[in-house]
Amino acid sequence: MKFNKVLKDIKTYEAGKPIELVVREFGIAAQDVVKLASNENPIGTSPAVQKAIIANADRAHLYPDDSMFELKDALRKKFSVTDENIIIGAGSDQVLEFISRALLDDESSVLMSAVTFAMYEIYAKQMGAKIIRTASYAHKYDEFMEAYKMHKPKIVYICTPNNPTGDATSKTEVLKIIEAIGKESLIVVDGAYMEYAAAKDEKYAISAKDLLAYENVIYLGTFSKAYGLGGMRVGYGIAQTALINELYKMRPPFNISTLSLAAAIEACNDETFVEESITLHQEQIKRYEAFAKENGFAYIESYTNFITYLFDETMDAAKISDALLKRGVIIRNLTSYGLNAIRITIGTQAQNDVFFTHFSEVIV
Ligand code: PMP
Repeated sequence: MKFNKVLKDIKTYEAGKPIELVVREFGIAAQDVVKLASNENPIGTSPAVQKAIIANADRAHLYPDDSMFELKDALRKKFSVTDENIIIGAGSDQVLEFISRALLDDESSVLMSAVTFAMYEIYAKQMGAKIIRTASYAHKYDEFMEAYKMHKPKIVYICTPNNPTGDATSKTEVLKIIEAIGKESLIVVDGAYMEYAAAKDEKYAISAKDLLAYENVIYLGTFSKAYGLGGMRVGYGIAQTALINELYKMRPPFNISTLSLAAAIEACNDETFVEESITLHQEQIKRYEAFAKENGFAYIESYTNFITYLFDETMDAAKISDALLKRGVIIRNLTSYGLNAIRITIGTQAQNDVFFTHFSEVIV
């Protein structure tokens, strides 16, 4: 059997390790495992959303509303756009996939930061496209423009705040890049963690509406982070109608389940939950900053719900991650991104207590 030749060059995406794996491999009880690896919301699922999911359980035999009228209506109001500006995906991941398939082929290239969300590369490579990266992980105007002029990429990814580094790009800088890039490239502004950045400093707040004036820009958002719905898989893209219509050609029918739609609709009405999540996060992340300072290692100023600790050569991110895993603490080792660093999702107070206890012992 001969697979598509593009697969040769693709590394399978490695998701954060599940709790079940640690239970199976290390015999640790599930309740003692602390998962701070996938940037989920540590508070859990809002009670109102849980109710909405249960209330829709007796409709599981019916296909979902493929027009997604109610969810689009909620998003339309939230972002002051029209429903024709919106496409909904099984996670913003699926919207990224639509974008890649709609634009790329084996003569195209895509431009992204040196260290950024891994799926941009994977989806591009699936289409045989070439990956161009800037020199640094920050989204710097000069670096983006130099690479843009040289390669004329079909897609330019701006991930702000950026994953897995946690830094953000100001609205002014993003608009400067958008204004300078020609209309023949699609610019994807991925705001998966935007709620955290906007709450921290409004300089970094970018809303879908801010970008709607540009025909070649799409804003991506997700319910997986601040809205606490990682398990329901709902994300969205917002752009001018002509672009949305093209992306719709890539969408399979019924791509969002009835229960996921119900959950996301309710989540849009439950802004208090998001506010509580962000308040807890802002309190708890201070502990991670203080810990790094006290122990003399660097971290990247975070605008997300995680923090990235950067190690010098006296510390080994891979070894530290493995040692934590054996103790039931799951975090993300970033060595595969070329960084001697770990990424930790900020948990609840209790989860962070467990992290600091084990981390302090592991790094001595
Ligand atoms: N973009 C970024 C930057 C992410 O970090 C993630 C999830 N890790 C996604 C998109 C995809 O999120 P989801 O598919 O859960 O909406």
